[in-house]
Amino acid sequence: MQDCVFCKIVGGQIPAAALVETDEVISFLDIAPVNPGHCLVVPKRHVQSLLDLNENELVSCILTAQKLARSVMKATGCPGLNLLQNNDRCAGQLVPHAHFHVIPRSPGDGFSFGWRQGRYAEGEMDRLRQKILQAL
Ligand code: 5GP
Ligand code: ZN
Repeated sequence: MQDCVFCKIVGGQIPAAALVETDEVISFLDIAPVNPGHCLVVPKRHVQSLLDLNENELVSCILTAQKLARSVMKATGCPGLNLLQNNDRCAGQLVPHAHFHVIPRSPGDGFSFGWRQGRYAEGEMDRLRQKILQAL
């Protein structure tokens, strides 16, 4: 897709620090890492979100992410890792081409999600469970 930064990387129009490549996906270091070694796994086909990926692309993304996770942890010595995947602007997706973040983590690295956790009102959890089951 024209004007998509990740499509341009896939097409070789802009450079990237490439890592693993398969028929379906490429991966490379994030240009603005949360921590050094932060990398991205990107389907070659332009799709906007996780929901648009076909089975082969999804499998290739997750296998590549696991492979990279192992090598990035070895290379950086980081004991932890986040696999992160944002969909839509409201969820923090800035590049509208589906991708997975592999982010090495270590104690005290200063990165935090600021997790905000709520509570269900009486009966709300079960009502929502039923709705989700019906939508499957
Ligand atoms: P999002 O917020 O969409 O989940 O994450 C997009 C990521 O893409 C960001 O972490 C950002 O640093 C990275 N990114 C954006 N443009 C480029 C680029 O041109 N090259 C590389 N390597 N990473 C990029
Ligand atoms: Zn794209």
